[in-house]
Amino acid sequence: MQLFDTALQEVVPFEPRGGRVGIYVCGITPYDSAHLGHAFVYHVFDVLNRRFRDAGLAVRSVRNVTDVDDDILRVARERGVDFQDLASEQVRMFDHDMAGIGLLPVDAAPRATDHVEEMVHWIARLVDDGYAYSVNGWVFFDSGAYPDYGRLSHLDHATMIELSRERGADPDDTRKRRPLDFVLWQASAEGEPNWPSPWGPGRPGWHIECTVMSIGALGHPIDIHGGGDDLIYPHHESEIAQAEAGGVAPYVRHWTHVAMVNLDGVKMSKSLGNLVFVRDLVARVPGAAVRLLLAAHHYRKSWSYDDAELDVATARHSRYLSAMQAGGTISHEAARSHEERFFERLDDDLDTPGALHELDAIAQELSRGTPGAGPGTEGQQLLGRLMTVLGAETEAVPA
Ligand SMILES: [Zn+2]
Repeated sequence: MQLFDTALQEVVPFEPRGGRVGIYVCGITPYDSAHLGHAFVYHVFDVLNRRFRDAGLAVRSVRNVTDVDDDILRVARERGVDFQDLASEQVRMFDHDMAGIGLLPVDAAPRATDHVEEMVHWIARLVDDGYAYSVNGWVFFDSGAYPDYGRLSHLDHATMIELSRERGADPDDTRKRRPLDFVLWQASAEGEPNWPSPWGPGRPGWHIECTVMSIGALGHPIDIHGGGDDLIYPHHESEIAQAEAGGVAPYVRHWTHVAMVNLDGVKMSKSLGNLVFVRDLVARVPGAAVRLLLAAHHYRKSWSYDDAELDVATARHSRYLSAMQAGGTISHEAARSHEERFFERLDDDLDTPGALHELDAIAQELSRGTPGAGPGTEGQQLLGRLMTVLGAETEAVPA
């Protein structure tokens, strides 16, 4: 498998170790419904997972839940519910939406609030070793103590400051020694949930949650760590800093990031409200058709959703189903060469659009084949199996 690595900025071979692959993908902050941008990210890691499993590797996939943060607390307050009840309800809905598009269940889904004690230990070690400092119940990571800060994102200092400001990290906070220092621990406001710590009651910062939970769930180095490409800076950049300053180096072997989905040319985001919800699509078309829509886009290229494309994906899905039911056959040699090219495409930096072209070719040949050959011919089975590798399973896959 050849896969682009964000840290190296090039496509490099990904080598599993001992037949195993650990994948950690940053999960959701559960306070609102899953949209197509989420679906694209988790679809990509699901295809990667399925590709590895198809090749006989033992995959352990982990996706965390950030179940305490400003947004959850705000929405819980607005609705007059407990923040943990809100988070649990939203996680159930998210899992339901993802199952609706055929995502494999993850092997572990650690929740931040279950691991606060480990986070406190990690932060205390960073303070003891001079990588972090406390100010009035808050603890900040000292970016100046870690000269490699910026290694993942390849951003210069000024751009990082600008992005911090855009993404709510407040480089102008006067308690910080340097603008790029980030929060490891924050004092809880009156009435907010809090956990005990040497710096007073409070809660962990977002970045430390993923470092501690990823290492806890997978050990280190982690084979593949990723998420949406809006997490490269500051989230993943900060994860590396606090992991490596905490003595875990290398933290991650391979960084994989997925491009954003737009609507009318603007990134889908909760704050802008320009969202296409997964459940609305699944109510209109089969989940497998949504997967074919997602697979038609390469994971490193951002794209804009429109309904016409959903129609194209749905038509493609129908063609595949008819091809499997039409009773057509293809030769053994043709089946093997299609299969080979399909995996060649996937193994070339997860070229799912290229892989789909191969499925199109199989479907076309099958539909031209001798009618009446019955279901379950080699070509039909192959088409069904390869659709499954892309997460586009169908009940119509012949036995
Ligand atoms: Zn994360």
